[in-house]
Amino acid sequence: MNSYIYLDHAATSPMNGQVIEAMTTAMQQVFGNASSIHGAGREARKYLDNARELLAKSIGAQAGEIIFTSGGTEADNTAILGTVYARANEGKHIITTQVEHHAVLHTCEKLERDGFEVTYLPVDQLGRVAVEDVQEALREDTILVTIMYGNNEVGTIQPIAEIGELLREHHATFHTDAVQAYGLEKIDVNQLQVDLLSVSAHKINGPKGVGFLYQKTGTPLASFALGGAQEKKRRAGTENIPAIIGFATAVQVANKLREEKRSLYNHFKQIMLEVFTQEKLAFHVNGEEKHSLPHVLNISFKGMEVESFLVNLDMAGICVSSGSACTAGSIDPSHVLVAMFGQGAEELRNSIRFSFGQDLTENDIRDAAEKTAQIVKKLAT
Ligand code: PMP
Repeated sequence: MNSYIYLDHAATSPMNGQVIEAMTTAMQQVFGNASSIHGAGREARKYLDNARELLAKSIGAQAGEIIFTSGGTEADNTAILGTVYARANEGKHIITTQVEHHAVLHTCEKLERDGFEVTYLPVDQLGRVAVEDVQEALREDTILVTIMYGNNEVGTIQPIAEIGELLREHHATFHTDAVQAYGLEKIDVNQLQVDLLSVSAHKINGPKGVGFLYQKTGTPLASFALGGAQEKKRRAGTENIPAIIGFATAVQVANKLREEKRSLYNHFKQIMLEVFTQEKLAFHVNGEEKHSLPHVLNISFKGMEVESFLVNLDMAGICVSSGSACTAGSIDPSHVLVAMFGQGAEELRNSIRFSFGQDLTENDIRDAAEKTAQIVKKLAT
């Protein structure tokens, strides 16, 4: 038994028992290199192909459209750099939003230094980007639009299918980072009309260090991991087969439990909000309440300083992230909240992200909410 209540599943999640079993068996029995032509290689390839098939199916794609990566970061980097290197002679303009994960933002910033022009679209106070803003930003020389599916800090879901529809009329490649949404939202690449989509295993009770990039057949993508011919020469290097098998297992489990989890996590959100209301705390829920990822609850508590808040929560055995979840040091102002509320807003200093996952009970949530309320009462100025 853990001595803490883990409410940081959007940062990473514990591995599911079936995932551990599948990986253990794979590590004991499948050691060949999938690129070898002999029996051991063929056996490894069979496992790899099977996992690829399952993962492709989970998003309505073909097996050949899946490129395995070391996770969401590499998938995002590959999508963005791969597109612009393949299409640089067609234009130098990229569209993204101000609230993307740093795997996207830092990659775009690097491209700006390399002579590309990037439009960072604003969001409203709920963290939503407007389809009309995407439309207005589109130019003849726009070669890539990269907009996340669901936000990792506040959970807001973007209108990806509508943007996909808009881009049918435009030649730009459309990428979405679905790292947080995959496994909780039903994702179909054909319905969304995306060309590239990033996913990571460790957010859905799979292993760390593995993910994939979906590349719609025919989408131009330069390879920058050069070497062997793995992943149809799109990403060189021996695949981590046990992790990929674990990933495919995690997806099977996640898909079976998706609806159950969605309603459970929404229930958890309600419990937390009920407790905070009963305790008469002054708080604000950041992000969309209805059209948002079910596992993310980002709240600003009035009068709190996030540094001491996090330390006190940790001492009380509650694991959460600050609202600026993935920002270095985790206590810098969140670029997502800055985009939503503007520099200097009080929400920036006192936001906490609770995120839910497998094995949590209603008691855990109530317990965590009550302990959080006591800390707020003690520390709020
Ligand atoms: N994109 C989003 C939206 C994420 O939440 C994360 C993980 N924090 C990543 C990309 C990076 O994924 P990984 O940790 O697998 O590199």
